[in-house]
Amino acid sequence: MKRIAVLTSGGDSAGMNPALKSIVEQSRRDRISVTGFLRGYLGLVNGLAIEMYYKTVAGIARKGGTVIKSSRLPEFREISVQKQAIANLGKNEIDGLIVIGGDGSIRGASALAALGVPIVAIPASIDNDIYGSDISLGVDTSLNTIVNSIDIIKDTASSHNRAFVIETMGRTSGYLALVGAMATGAEAVVIPEVPYDIECIANRLKEEHRKGREYSIVVVAEGTGATSKMSEALKQISNFDTRITVLGHLQRGGSPSVFDRILGFRLGSQAVRALIEGRSGVMMALEGSKIVEVPFEDVLTHKKLLGKRYLEYARRLSR
Ligand code: ADP
Repeated sequence: MKRIAVLTSGGDSAGMNPALKSIVEQSRRDRISVTGFLRGYLGLVNGLAIEMYYKTVAGIARKGGTVIKSSRLPEFREISVQKQAIANLGKNEIDGLIVIGGDGSIRGASALAALGVPIVAIPASIDNDIYGSDISLGVDTSLNTIVNSIDIIKDTASSHNRAFVIETMGRTSGYLALVGAMATGAEAVVIPEVPYDIECIANRLKEEHRKGREYSIVVVAEGTGATSKMSEALKQISNFDTRITVLGHLQRGGSPSVFDRILGFRLGSQAVRALIEGRSGVMMALEGSKIVEVPFEDVLTHKKLLGKRYLEYARRLSR
């Protein structure tokens, strides 16, 4: 293996840069050159390539986002477009490719693997919805931001005796909302994985208010689409002075946490090792304290579920 390439695709997440840093440093130590394709599959298809040196990745571990940029390219589902990508890999004399991204990006990687490209993936998504890895790059940083934000909002909620409905990201996953609620001791949580009863929550919080609770925090996962309904119920049923805060894109970027940096370094160097040792069609993953390799097929044919204890906690807070 003389030259490998890397790209970052789909939603950016903190930890992508630490992974890039370790891919370049590990490769260079093994005398392998590294090409970076810019803007995900878009750069791969259009041949937007840069040479990545030690200097290219110096000082990037503390930066959120991705220095080689990301994008979404819906056309990458077409085989003709995938073949264009393969032609560019040939033109750039690439012996193996590392894709850093979420579920969708791994589907793209799997399509290339089926066409014979030596390819491995690194799970990066703030949603923590990628099957096979306990956690994906960016989740921890995102949770830290969510918890800091809820802590800040609590200051206002308690000073004014208000209720706050806080909406978190996560697409169809309620992981960010649930763990954010757990870590801040929120009074209620609304997530897609567990049946919830908005009126019941509003009545419970009204009762708790009567008994002396001064303010309430309800964390709602965006995937439920229930944010305004929850807020209305708190106003109508509980009579609370209620405010909504949508955390939105604050949850994506920011300096990677220690956890995401170290995880990025480990997944990055393992990805290089896997390619050197001739493995392909696998995702690097964290299982317990170990880095393991999970076949794309397993990743893409299973849904990542919340653990039993998480579900129990969620059930208690969603009515
Ligand atoms: P994420 O990787 O964060 O889940 P997306 O779901 O938007 O983000 O996917 C990122 C990109 O991966 C898409 O824009 C597309 O280029 C590629 N992709 C997604 N699904 C497929 C698929 N089924 N086949 C080929 N490429 C895909």
